[in-house]
Amino acid sequence: MSIYEEFGVEPIINAVGWATRLGGYVMDDAVVSAMAQAARHSVDMTELQAAASKVISELTGAEAGLVTSGAAAGLLLATAACVTGADPSKMARLPETEGMRNTVIVPRSHRNLYDHAVRTAGVRLVEVGVPDRFSGAGSRDCEPWEIEAAITKDTAAILYVATPWARPSLDQVVEVGRRHGVPVIIDAAAQLPPASNLKAFIAAGADLVAYSGGKAIGGPQSSGILCGRRDLIEAAALQMLDLDVVDELWLPPKQYIDRSGLRGVPPHGIGRPCKVGKEEIIGLLVALRQFVKRDEKGAVEAWSGLTRELHAQVEGIAGCTARMATSKWGADVLDLIFPGDDAGKRAAAVARELQTGKPAIVADLSKLYEGVIRINPYCLRPEQVRIIAGRLRQITK
Ligand SMILES: *Cc1c(COP(=O)(O)O)cnc(C)c1O
Repeated sequence: MSIYEEFGVEPIINAVGWATRLGGYVMDDAVVSAMAQAARHSVDMTELQAAASKVISELTGAEAGLVTSGAAAGLLLATAACVTGADPSKMARLPETEGMRNTVIVPRSHRNLYDHAVRTAGVRLVEVGVPDRFSGAGSRDCEPWEIEAAITKDTAAILYVATPWARPSLDQVVEVGRRHGVPVIIDAAAQLPPASNLKAFIAAGADLVAYSGGKAIGGPQSSGILCGRRDLIEAAALQMLDLDVVDELWLPPKQYIDRSGLRGVPPHGIGRPCKVGKEEIIGLLVALRQFVKRDEKGAVEAWSGLTRELHAQVEGIAGCTARMATSKWGADVLDLIFPGDDAGKRAAAVARELQTGKPAIVADLSKLYEGVIRINPYCLRPEQVRIIAGRLRQITK
């Protein structure tokens, strides 16, 4: 019996992957054990973040880093840092930003539901470009000059959501940002693997980059990484750390937080509700070290192997066609393609039966309206392949 059943909750078969609503990725034993060890001691949290910063710097090439409670928390802290810099009086005023640099430019095609985290800092998003290539009406999106034209004295940052199809190119956006002294914040939450993307955005000149710790890195679900410029990471850390300290006895590690540049100890900041525990910090660091050492090809091959096995087991299934496809992470995934004018409805009916059966099987429904149920292998255990195949046969027969 799992610990969840003790509380009346039944674990699901996760054919989606590292989705937050399903609890993210599953953690490795080494990560779980590191977290349990971390739980047994008290530490100075600023010192721990300074140590984490060293590991993050080493693995990302950034000047400094911070373990956050997720990529979304990283976006809030990144934005706050760009608005306030190292000024504690500005930090104290957030999310009130009158008289400060309080707008963030974003290509309209990069808008997404996580950018609420950016707005939470008290800024207004200024959208530029028309994502015509997604409307079926044309081929244009956003041009670098449109970002440049939107820059004013109130611009705190440019937000860029990294995807392989993002436009303009990051190089072009960084070039505009540099020319005007405006930092570029990257949402790279789900851009891992490949592990090379831990370095790619910093190398391309981004000022701050946010990653999820609970997705492919395999860290705790409530963890993430913010890395980038030393001064901005310092400003971000100051707005998250608990600073209930006595002034004369506040002795943060100098290479991480330079007191001499601060007019006083900042009060609890806008990021204080996004606190991250010592267990999450250690868990994230251990997971991150494993992630960069992981045999990436081997992992992709193992996932593809599960998909091939499932494909073989649902061969000739009634009501739909099973076809392998390649996911954006390079692994094979299985699409169940439903035919006819009401394909979306049929797919939804099958997905519903999968999800409401016992155990619940939750599939990737991002193409449901095209009549496709996708089975992703990332969080599947080998023995679950047979269960999924059996249920599919039963439902569609
Ligand atoms: C998952 C995701 C986030 C949120 O990440 P958390 O670590 O869950 O906070 C933000 N942006 C994008 C593009 C994502 O895919």
